[in-house]
Amino acid sequence: MIPPIELASAEEIKVFQEEKLKELLTYLAEKSRFYKKMFSDNAIDISQIKTLEDLQQIPVTTKTDLQQHNYNFLCVPKHEIIDYATTSGTLGKPVVVGLTDNDLDRLAYNEAISLACAGIKKGDVVQLMTTIDRGFVAGLAYFLGLRKIGAGVIRIGPRNPQLQWDSIVEHKPKYLIAVPSFLLKMIAYAEANQIDYNQLGVEGIICIGEALRTADLENNVLANRILEKWDVNLYSTYASTEMSTAFTECTYQNAGHLHPELIIIEVLDNQNNPVKDGEEGELTITTLGVEAMPLLRFKTGDIVTVFSEKCKCGRNTKRVGPVLGRKKQLVKYKGTSIYPPAIFDILNFFDSIKLYLVELHTNDIGNDEICVKIASDDVSEEFLNKVKSYLQSKLRVIPTIEFCELETLAKLVFNPNKRKPTYLIDYRI
Ligand SMILES: [Zn+2]
Repeated sequence: MIPPIELASAEEIKVFQEEKLKELLTYLAEKSRFYKKMFSDNAIDISQIKTLEDLQQIPVTTKTDLQQHNYNFLCVPKHEIIDYATTSGTLGKPVVVGLTDNDLDRLAYNEAISLACAGIKKGDVVQLMTTIDRGFVAGLAYFLGLRKIGAGVIRIGPRNPQLQWDSIVEHKPKYLIAVPSFLLKMIAYAEANQIDYNQLGVEGIICIGEALRTADLENNVLANRILEKWDVNLYSTYASTEMSTAFTECTYQNAGHLHPELIIIEVLDNQNNPVKDGEEGELTITTLGVEAMPLLRFKTGDIVTVFSEKCKCGRNTKRVGPVLGRKKQLVKYKGTSIYPPAIFDILNFFDSIKLYLVELHTNDIGNDEICVKIASDDVSEEFLNKVKSYLQSKLRVIPTIEFCELETLAKLVFNPNKRKPTYLIDYRI
């Protein structure tokens, strides 16, 4: 189920996307209040935008634009909106993303080719361990995509290891779709309750929300900790509500494939110039084929590296590496630049650490401070030193570390008003 364009040459893919881009610009100039104004304010003649490089003549769209002019992005009347998705609002006010009937078909196609990329086929049974409600678009996309493939779906939703294992024993799913750090909890639960998880037939797990690879595409600590216990294949998938498009790893597990019919990507530096191939920068996307809320040069805030060489699977499409962090969450600490997910991954190394929370503060001379709160089975000085020396070896700096009660920390991390656990609180000014 590989769309033919993905096997075409890089040059053919570029030409194909440039045709799609022209269609998009015409559509936006006609239907989008936001982009109509933006083209006119900036004297942009869309007939002069012919190549992907020409995109650089158009200003970028930011999250703030979306927050402030949310409904001006809508290109269809309200009665054509079928699904109201919302962004998680990790960085400020959530944005409403409307999807039409055609957008839901596009979403299903997107997810079907993405999940097929990771090897899911007609007739496979898949356990969905993410939420499908609360305006969350990914859960809906998985369901629609699996339906389109012809796979069976068990919608268990997040949390509750016992329920997850009961269902796995009952239905023998070949694949799971889950948040990877939760898999560690599943393993711990199985071991405590004599569940022989390696004999239950799970072959692959599509992992969302947290990275599995390092910047150079090696398995990170989290992936290694899962794999040393559980004989499965882990595939990373990355998406966001705004882009309505997923980047999922193929069976070679080396960064998520772009699907050229659905999205154009750029990787930009702080001045909105493209970074060199293979360098990290902010993922900036242009959606293709979206009817209700198409986006042009939208800066996602996610820092990634893009890989362009042909993949062993035969696809010639670009691949998006792990999200190294959010641009706004970059910390400058004692001369080192750190994205908080790097700290999470180090903390994942320790079995004794049951929960963690990273807090960022500004100190009285205006510098960033990092405080890591951990709930641990082991609160000895010796263990603390072990954590510190591991942080030192991986990060080159040691943040402040505080032991906390599990219950206290859980209240901060699992805020019932938030859709995702909060492992980072940024108090910086
Ligand atoms: Zn591939």
